[in-house]
Amino acid sequence: MFLPEVINIVGRDIKTLSIFTIIGLVCWGFIMWYESRKDGFRTERFFDLIFLSLGSGAIVFFLLRYIYDWATVYSPSHLILRLDKELLLVVLSFVFSLLPVLIFSKKWKWSTFRILDIYAQSYGLLLLFISAGAFLVSGQKEYIIFVSLLLSLYVSVLKFRGYKFSSGFIFSMFLFFLAVVGFIFFRRNGYLLYYPLLFIIGVVNLYLRGNKYMVKGNFPNQFVQNIKRKLLKKDAELAETQQELVYEDPYLQVDRSIGNSEFMDEAQEDMGKNITDAQIGFVEGLRLQVKKALAAINIGKYGTCEVCGNKIDTARLKVYPEATNCVECATDISQENQAKGN
Ligand SMILES: [Zn+2]
Repeated sequence: MFLPEVINIVGRDIKTLSIFTIIGLVCWGFIMWYESRKDGFRTERFFDLIFLSLGSGAIVFFLLRYIYDWATVYSPSHLILRLDKELLLVVLSFVFSLLPVLIFSKKWKWSTFRILDIYAQSYGLLLLFISAGAFLVSGQKEYIIFVSLLLSLYVSVLKFRGYKFSSGFIFSMFLFFLAVVGFIFFRRNGYLLYYPLLFIIGVVNLYLRGNKYMVKGNFPNQFVQNIKRKLLKKDAELAETQQELVYEDPYLQVDRSIGNSEFMDEAQEDMGKNITDAQIGFVEGLRLQVKKALAAINIGKYGTCEVCGNKIDTARLKVYPEATNCVECATDISQENQAKGN
């Protein structure tokens, strides 16, 4: 309506909606990266995870689409044809893209709830772009209502995230939102299958989270504030060390004569570079752990093991304030890492 359904780009007809989807996916990836970094997840591993999610979502998407198209041609009375194609593809591929999170967060001892929250934030943005595109192409007012509601939810999440909403909450809220808004505005064929499904997943998530993190405000405020000060100081020190290492980086030395240095000089430089890189990586790892503990303080989960949900020993927190898991789980992780040889 506002935009044509198909746009011709360098001689190829491309669906306008696909362009919006691609932009949405770029934002999706960006939010994943940005939020996971902020929460101290290891970026490379987090990217492994989102590629797995993308993969399992895509497999389900294309498989269902294939079955649907096949049924349309060869089996016109097939049950699947009574369902709305778009809703079927979108909802089920979304649900299946969550599967790797459940599997790998357990394996890597990551907080499933926090990851699901990050997923909710990035999927929210993806949906925002797709719906905006759908509105601009079709002109249907349901889409613009959906976009504005989603946008206001998004803004309030960004505003309150970290102190009002504890982890696990955003994901459930997102699912409830989709279920309710979908039920009101998008009653496509088969909707009674999907919206209750989203609703149930949201409830299960809240239930599991509630069970795991019954303990709230484990410590007196003063203790936590004290820890927070320590952590902030440590973070600043590490930042300084990192900065110094960067200045030491032989590739960045100002007097480096580009191009005409002797072979030996270059070999030495390369060696120095490797050592500095390893040191920078190490310091970065320490900083991430400190950031993770600070994030835990901000969401009121400090002192709760992110793996098993038990309380972390106060003695442990005093010596190692950036701890985000209990001694037992930390031992498990380091043993696993040793077994893997890293
Ligand atoms: Zn534990």
